Amino acid sequence: MTANIFKIERLNTHNGPGFRTVVYFKGCPLHCTWCHNPESISKQKQVWVNHVKCIGCVECIRVCDYDAISVEDGKIVVNQKACTGCYACTNACPTKAMEKIGLDYTIDDVMKPILQDKFLYDSSGGGVTVTGGEPGLYIDFVTELFKQCKDNGIQTAFDTSAAVSPEKFEELIKYTDILFLDLKIFDKQNSVKYTGLEPEKLSKMVYWLTTQKIKPDLKIEFRTPVIPGITDSDNNLEEFAEAIVSKFPGAEWELCMFNDLCEDKYRKLGMEWTLSGNKITEQGYIYLKHFQKKYQDINIKLSGFTEDFSKYNEKP
Ligand code: SF4
Ligand code: SF4
Repeated sequence: MTANIFKIERLNTHNGPGFRTVVYFKGCPLHCTWCHNPESISKQKQVWVNHVKCIGCVECIRVCDYDAISVEDGKIVVNQKACTGCYACTNACPTKAMEKIGLDYTIDDVMKPILQDKFLYDSSGGGVTVTGGEPGLYIDFVTELFKQCKDNGIQTAFDTSAAVSPEKFEELIKYTDILFLDLKIFDKQNSVKYTGLEPEKLSKMVYWLTTQKIKPDLKIEFRTPVIPGITDSDNNLEEFAEAIVSKFPGAEWELCMFNDLCEDKYRKLGMEWTLSGNKITEQGYIYLKHFQKKYQDINIKLSGFTEDFSKYNEKP
């Protein structure tokens, strides 16, 4: 059994407690307008060019059998639609400027770095987090991976947008310690428009989580990307807050601030980035602080600020 994985990040401290090994699976059924990992969306292997390293030798063009590489305005460009992910170009590139996105990993391949860092998880309360993309696309692989983690006393976290098969999810959850569940857009029309997710999938998962007896000690943490003008409206956040208060009192909810640091990735993939210049305003920050105070029954954490709004914090 293999899975297409585009990154394994060790010593991560942002995707769960303690030091973590984060495994990024390639492929996602959604298409969120603000996706920070656009290289995770396609399930296919892809390549992109690091133009800082490129010396313009055109060796990549010479070896590509699919006419997927050309020179435009003096720069090497990959036509992602024509690319089959054969990696002839990455192997031929003398400077490693042509980079692979995605490799086939076996369970053993993934367990190797995980086991090497076990002492770090043990001393920090950390473990393994799978994310993507949507790791639910590889649910059999992840279930087996988590089984092996649990056999080795390693904590596991599954990060999902709820786009997973309910039957297989029940088996996975037996070996899952933490579930990170994305709450993006409550309104059906906007959810489909901006993310492609039918909210019924989320409702079904929430219902299952509130009634399930398979894993009573499962820790659930919610996550919402705060995208100005899209997910940060009063209605959207309040609707989710009311649902959390009624169904998961005391739960943790991370509101992750938007930034446009991923713009370069869109350029490298030839994809359109529509949120240039969009950022959290001071009024937006003040609103979020009031929102956090209003819903004190939920453990709301604000994260990911790229600007310093501390002068707007209320004095104790
Ligand atoms: S991965 Fe293969 S098909 Fe894609 S650009 Fe490189 S050589 Fe061409
Ligand atoms: S082979 Fe590498 S260095 Fe040469 S043109 Fe292609 S990307 Fe640039």
